[in-house]
Amino acid sequence: MKDSAGVRTVPVDAIAFLQDNVAWNRVSFCIQDGKILSCESRNDPAQFFVTPGFVNCHMHWLMLGEPTLEREIELMKNRPDEMIDIMVENARSTVLKGITACCDKGPPGLETHRIYQGLRTAKSCGLPVPKTLVSTWTISVDGAFASPLSRRVYSQNELEQVIRELHETGAGIMKIIPESGLRLAQFTYDWVFPEAYFAVAREMTARLGLILAIHAKGPESIGMGLKYSVDCIEHATEASVTQLKEMQGKGIYLSPTLEGLWCRLNYATSAGSGVATAAFEWGNATQMFRNAVVLNDGKPFTHFLFGSDAGSASTPHASLRELYLMRKLGLPAEDCLRAAMVNGARFMRLHGSIGQLTPGYCADMIFWRRNPLELDVADWEHLDQYIAAVMLDGNLIEP
Ligand SMILES: [Zn+2]
Repeated sequence: MKDSAGVRTVPVDAIAFLQDNVAWNRVSFCIQDGKILSCESRNDPAQFFVTPGFVNCHMHWLMLGEPTLEREIELMKNRPDEMIDIMVENARSTVLKGITACCDKGPPGLETHRIYQGLRTAKSCGLPVPKTLVSTWTISVDGAFASPLSRRVYSQNELEQVIRELHETGAGIMKIIPESGLRLAQFTYDWVFPEAYFAVAREMTARLGLILAIHAKGPESIGMGLKYSVDCIEHATEASVTQLKEMQGKGIYLSPTLEGLWCRLNYATSAGSGVATAAFEWGNATQMFRNAVVLNDGKPFTHFLFGSDAGSASTPHASLRELYLMRKLGLPAEDCLRAAMVNGARFMRLHGSIGQLTPGYCADMIFWRRNPLELDVADWEHLDQYIAAVMLDGNLIEP
């Protein structure tokens, strides 16, 4: 790489996405002010392969991957500065794994504004923090999964007020948790969110330009997400083939959160408790995912996202295991990259600035020692070992 007059020239073998197809280009990028200024063809081989940065579309900055929520809540309440330090370190290690953009699916607890501010301050001080779309709160009602940690609403007026507040606090996304946790006796989830509220949420988020995501594991919640054409369904562990086809037809994205479910199962197994529920959810998720991989006459579902549930129970932030699990369960490498790059950018409505390597786009790049498309499934378990460096807004971040 060489610099002159604020312009950095980067000769690489780039893997770009052009109209949804993976295209190879032997190029030199010129980078200025954090953006790709131009892209010139070259002939000689380069030292590195380059892809756009990854987009993790389901993660939680304000959760630290502890098996329980108590530590997070205690930290946020009593030691907010320590919480900010941990979060800033998680942000840095996340970038080093190639994740340059994130969609935060809502924090635990309610007093989180100041803590998010700490992350913004770190970014403005030049520390590496992925571009993040936040949902300042998750929204639910009594009886919903994790409802004590959400903004619970009790009337339509209150819901409308919460959506206005979300918008005013700079959230780009609203996430609703409309179903209960897994009920052990019947192994089902209950839909607990009034449908009239759901209709209001859809109408208002569309009007205000907020993305609408729904936590939905059971078929009823997935069906409601379909009926109201939400933008993204999280987990979708029990989605049927028919529902997957309808999601695809409506352009609804799917965050399978395989890593989160896998980490829960591992923790439950080692702790010797909660194994039945964790195994049930993991079993459903893997079955759903295998169905989705061959949904279109053997070709995959088109609207996968990379969403790991980082920060939730036992799930680390700086990890690419979600991509390994997607590949291990049958998704071709090219489709894994598409999910983690172009699809994530489209879902976050940032497809004019991230997810591709094109002049005018952010210079968010992963520098690979080997072409990730040529690595086999076993190599993908340690995908990060092939990352030599990461560029975020034109700044090279090295370990
Ligand atoms: Zn989550």
